[in-house]
Amino acid sequence: LVSRKNQPENTVIELNGTSIGGSTQVMVAGPCSVESYEQLRIVAAALKEAGIKVMRGGAFKPRTSPYDFQGLGIEGLKMLKAVAKEFGLSTISEIVHPAHIEIAADYIDVIQIGARNMQNFELLKEAGQAKIPVLLKRGIAATLEEFVHAAEYIAVSGNSNLMLIERGIRTYEKWTRNTLDISAVPILKQETHLPVLVDVTHSTGRKDIMLPCAKAALAAGADGVMIEVHPDPQTALSDAAQQLDIPQFIEFMNGVRESGLLH
Ligand code: PEP
Ligand code: MN
Repeated sequence: LVSRKNQPENTVIELNGTSIGGSTQVMVAGPCSVESYEQLRIVAAALKEAGIKVMRGGAFKPRTSPYDFQGLGIEGLKMLKAVAKEFGLSTISEIVHPAHIEIAADYIDVIQIGARNMQNFELLKEAGQAKIPVLLKRGIAATLEEFVHAAEYIAVSGNSNLMLIERGIRTYEKWTRNTLDISAVPILKQETHLPVLVDVTHSTGRKDIMLPCAKAALAAGADGVMIEVHPDPQTALSDAAQQLDIPQFIEFMNGVRESGLLH
């Protein structure tokens, strides 16, 4: 169902007036974790100022260690809803349990399925029943074939309002958090009709190369770029090392716009 052979035209996701997968590319930003109402408002104000319409923030956090912050859960989704309404933004947030797929639509505009759950088939099937779009992340060590098959699970279960996002894969390279597979962008665009985004935060884990990687993604034909921003990254409850602060985020956005690559 997701194959370009089956549907030659691009799938375009409509989010309150923002199209993803059409002729314009979108920037998506927000904090790794929703930590408080105030934190989210500061980020939302910066997004609005930068002309960004889609905010992403995690409420259910799939953390490597069980002792790390696990997210605010439904309370976090409620904060996303309130802040999105105040600032006129659309929202994306990760859902990790099939039981939360249905109620997610009450709070957010797009369900993210994270890298660790790319092959959680029961979650994928439930996401196929969702009434709202799904953003599927590439698994930590997933081949493109596995990634496309995971998307197919969602589509065949009834939801073809689907987007893919490359977030880096695990390789032997240690100078980046993961290895950003830029080749995934044109391949997924050729093989599927789905919008393809690139997450420059989790793929690189390095603030100093996020701008060139975002440019590479846009030049390669990505439909959007996702980046994490936090009012005070040093005190962030997750991904403290790699979230941009607000001035860095503004500089990043200026760099993206000045490149002329964002159309
Ligand atoms: C995230 O997007 O917040 C996240 C945890 O990333 P990933 O699933 O790609 O590791
Ligand atoms: Mn993160």
